[in-house]
Amino acid sequence: MTSPVVSIIDSDQPEKWQQMLSDLITDPKELLQILGLNATDYPGDPDMLRQFPMKVPRPFAARMEAGNWRDPLLLQVLPSSLEAVQVEGLVADPLQEAAANPVPGLLHKYAGRVLLTAVPHCAVHCRYCFRRHFDYAGNAPNRSEWVKAIDYIAADPGITEVILSGGDPLAASDRHLRWLIDRINDIEHVSSLRLHTRLPIVLPQRVTPGLAALLGGSRAKPVLVVHCNHAQELDLQVASALGQLTDNRIILLNQAVLLRDVNDNLPALVALSKRLFQLHVLPYYLHLPDRVAGTAHFQVSAATGRELISGMQAQLPGYLVPTLVQEQPGASAKTRLA
Ligand code: SF4
Repeated sequence: MTSPVVSIIDSDQPEKWQQMLSDLITDPKELLQILGLNATDYPGDPDMLRQFPMKVPRPFAARMEAGNWRDPLLLQVLPSSLEAVQVEGLVADPLQEAAANPVPGLLHKYAGRVLLTAVPHCAVHCRYCFRRHFDYAGNAPNRSEWVKAIDYIAADPGITEVILSGGDPLAASDRHLRWLIDRINDIEHVSSLRLHTRLPIVLPQRVTPGLAALLGGSRAKPVLVVHCNHAQELDLQVASALGQLTDNRIILLNQAVLLRDVNDNLPALVALSKRLFQLHVLPYYLHLPDRVAGTAHFQVSAATGRELISGMQAQLPGYLVPTLVQEQPGASAKTRLA
């Protein structure tokens, strides 16, 4: 029997965030124009746009600095001709996720936890994304396939945590999320429900009172891991969205990716940790970029990562220093580097 999480009636009318999701900036020239940058100076590559289209929510673009080609938010989302550079060791599926995909929509890489690709798309396309080549078409289950994924979890008492990921799980409607969360909460051995999401950062309007109540009402303890790479991403609207989540007793953590020219310097990382803390979010992981094809220009070495973590340790209390990690295919957990 399904235990209701909360009773919220989904309207047939699209919510404001859904309207904003259907009005993303997808043309680099439009984004550059908004920022007052000369689009004729932009060496765009139509192939890159075809392979991994640009997607930028307008509220995220509003936090970029006008006139600045090196803006750290712009660099994360603007397609670059550098993505065509082939580098040995950078591959389409660096984490070999295809081998850990026993049921559509479910990845079982680590003992004790599984990941559901709750929605096969995101609100933003981060150019360094490790899933930029992921087979989302083969991982967009219909209801009966979702039942198979739920049955897989129910049949394995060793699975105590379910992670909703994507794409971005919060790109799903409240109705779909509620359906999934209800099923997960029916499985007694699942004690923790984690969501990995960038939506509260790039489109904070997604966090409505209904969503916050839905997540906060989960029997399995809810943990929300946002993805923010730079303090400039955290404006007042984001603060308000995160506040609604903490008001509903949801634990908030952040994972960032260490990206060349975006946040690979000590002042940027210290400022990020301090700003997250003001918003009741603890820095959790700092990832080295995954070795995915098309991201050579974002790569930062492990040695640089360690040096930056040492610098953070000298300036911050331990709870504001994230763990430097790297994912390695076949490993039983993320590899801690510092
Ligand atoms: S939000 Fe996450 S999954 Fe989506 S494009 Fe960005 S890094 Fe990739």
